[in-house]
Amino acid sequence: MYLYNSATHKKEEFKTHTPGRVEMYTCGPTVYHFAHIGNLRSYIMEDALEKFLRYEGYDVNRVMNITDVGHLASDADTGEDKMLKGARRENKSVMDIARFYTGAFFDDCAKLNIKTPDVVQPATGLIDEFIKVVSGLIEKGYAYAAGGNVYFDTSRLDRYYVFNDHDEEDLAVGVREGVEEDANKRNKNDFVLWFTKCKFEDQALKWDSPWGVGYPGWHIECSCISMKYNGEYLDLHCGGVDNAFPHHTNEIAQSEAYLGHPWCAQWFHVHHLNTNSGKMSKSKGEFLTVSLLEEKGYDPLAYRFFCLQSHYRKGLVFSWENLDNAAGAYHKLIKRIAALTGTDGGVDEEAAAQMKEKFLAQVGNDLNTSMGITCLYDVLKAPVNDVTKRAVLADFDRVLSLSLLEKAAALREKEAAQARTAGADGFTVQGEGDPAIDALVLQRAEAKKAKNFAEADRIRDELKARGIEITDVPGGAVWKRL
Ligand SMILES: [Zn+2]
Repeated sequence: MYLYNSATHKKEEFKTHTPGRVEMYTCGPTVYHFAHIGNLRSYIMEDALEKFLRYEGYDVNRVMNITDVGHLASDADTGEDKMLKGARRENKSVMDIARFYTGAFFDDCAKLNIKTPDVVQPATGLIDEFIKVVSGLIEKGYAYAAGGNVYFDTSRLDRYYVFNDHDEEDLAVGVREGVEEDANKRNKNDFVLWFTKCKFEDQALKWDSPWGVGYPGWHIECSCISMKYNGEYLDLHCGGVDNAFPHHTNEIAQSEAYLGHPWCAQWFHVHHLNTNSGKMSKSKGEFLTVSLLEEKGYDPLAYRFFCLQSHYRKGLVFSWENLDNAAGAYHKLIKRIAALTGTDGGVDEEAAAQMKEKFLAQVGNDLNTSMGITCLYDVLKAPVNDVTKRAVLADFDRVLSLSLLEKAAALREKEAAQARTAGADGFTVQGEGDPAIDALVLQRAEAKKAKNFAEADRIRDELKARGIEITDVPGGAVWKRL
């Protein structure tokens, strides 16, 4: 495939260090709160990328960290610890907060059909590894201890790589909040590898280290976790564009200094989800979660569809109106697929191969998922039988993960159930989706129609005994559980 590489600022043919194998790393969530749907946009697009690479036949090893220690309120090394902030907010321990929000994150991912990475590593589970790498950096002369902390010395690098194709707002993330001059730093860009208690007395999680009791910086965790599970050569590093600086810049600095050779060839950055008032964030008013979408009656997969409709390198504007449009299009698509009920004939292999070739070329052009969705409509319009259409849609859905055939089957079942509950003369029963109850309500209506009121009352009493209340409405009846 061709993929835009943020490190070279060019769209390039995707290559791997080991042929056929992709070592892929994703910056995981800091588990101090629910993920908002802007965070989840990145994970949806990364999931589509992983699935497309697998679809192309690559063997993918995808690794993700869970940040449960060390991420300060500012992405630079200042401000309050995010985990501690979460623990205080909810009056719980840091580990309880981490456990709860890690679970919540993966629940959201499951609802959005985001596959769990092959390796998921919480930072607190790999402290020895961080200490080993920080010690190595000190030995090689790339790090120094000052004022109780250990810092990476950026002046020792031939160049301190910054992804300079991002706008000023992105680059300013690290220094936007709570800028504090740190007198211990030798150079402005130096960053903390290890904090000790002398700077943050109230840090909840601490470990012994050669530099005192303390905890790791945020950046070192991703380098260490990737080097441990992906090996020395990383093919593809993913993250939201707000991680590009200083987080990814610092990952490159410390990994290459430690390894002594280039580390990661390709960088994939997903752009922001914006609202009309700017970038979505937890600190602003619009804190939208998957649960909130569900409460408002949206299928989480309609949000996935909304994300796939736009390119990952463009900012996407969220509004309820935009989501409504996407949800409407998604449900219409499912409806059209549900109508593909034909069973005559086999799969037209030649036509299927042609459609697949087009899909590979379109989505393989810098992960153009919106063209991937267009390919779905092309399948619906193609002059082939329903068996072929269903097979090709199922195949494309290995990448898009919109549960197309499953949702279509569910819709057909729902419609069949509704048809069952519609009695003679168009009498309809509206209930809570229990065909046995619907049947009793219909029997009662028929008894009434035949003026067999004793039978009608008997059924009403039976339903009442089961906690069901019936209300007669024009042209039918409505029932509910009390
Ligand atoms: Zn990271």
